[in-house]
Amino acid sequence: TIAFLNGDYLPLAEARISPMDRGFLFGDGIYEVIPTLQGKPIGFNAHMARMRQGLEMLEISSPFPADYWRAVVNSLLTKNNELLQSESVGIYIQISRGADATRSHAYPDDLTPTLFAFAFATPPPPVPDASKVKGLHVALGEDKRWQRCNIKSTSLLGNVMHFEQGKREGKQEIILFNRHKEISEASSSNVFIVSNGVIKTPPLDHQILPGITRKLVIECLVKEGILVEETVLPLAELLAAEEVWLTSSSKEIAPVIEIEGKPVGNGKVGKIWQQAIEAFNQHKFNF
Ligand code: PMP
Repeated sequence: TIAFLNGDYLPLAEARISPMDRGFLFGDGIYEVIPTLQGKPIGFNAHMARMRQGLEMLEISSPFPADYWRAVVNSLLTKNNELLQSESVGIYIQISRGADATRSHAYPDDLTPTLFAFAFATPPPPVPDASKVKGLHVALGEDKRWQRCNIKSTSLLGNVMHFEQGKREGKQEIILFNRHKEISEASSSNVFIVSNGVIKTPPLDHQILPGITRKLVIECLVKEGILVEETVLPLAELLAAEEVWLTSSSKEIAPVIEIEGKPVGNGKVGKIWQQAIEAFNQHKFNF
């Protein structure tokens, strides 16, 4: 694999960063995963906008515009063209505050951010056919993460621990709820439900990552004249929902058929999911 590090392309196995990098010491950085299909990025501009906002929130100044990163994405795809055989390739981009001689908590002045990116094969997107798609089995847990989940920070320990919690219960993801028993998101995806025929997802706030797939799914559905309500979702409404979906760049829209061993709706992949994935496939390259 050829990776990108601070402006250079080199074999991933030879890429080196300082142990004093604040990304390593503090998780002080942000990242993106941009999905590509047959070499075409999905939601590239939205990923760039979220990355810029993350840098602003952390006060990391990195002068490289979206065009610079588009060139990096294209170079990683060409330099790793054996990956394109898998059709679906994720591009990971990380920007940390940089390496410093001390380990002071304060943001040091004038650090040069560390830029890193690499490409990796991802599972193919779901086929848009409810009878052929396997639904996910998920766990439930109280969200124990911090109050800044809107930042796509590399400090992912809370998410990692939650994912592991789900995995040890034999589940593929874990849906999280806050202390008021309202759904936030899953450990690495956003949550949608269909409740009495209405598609709903929690509103954007500090409790969830503003998922790009979440945004594109809402916009694709609107183009088809189907509205999504961004509203608080009580846990009880999730458990009574006809359908539950998880969205992320790598999963697109994944139907959930079982939560903590209990079937969602009739326990089969739903009809509205099928409409949603068709709308997504129709429009996903147009953002
Ligand atoms: N929430 C969390 C906590 C995530 O880590 C992710 C990304 N894996 C998502 C939601 C989905 O975001 P996106 O659609 O931008 O991949």
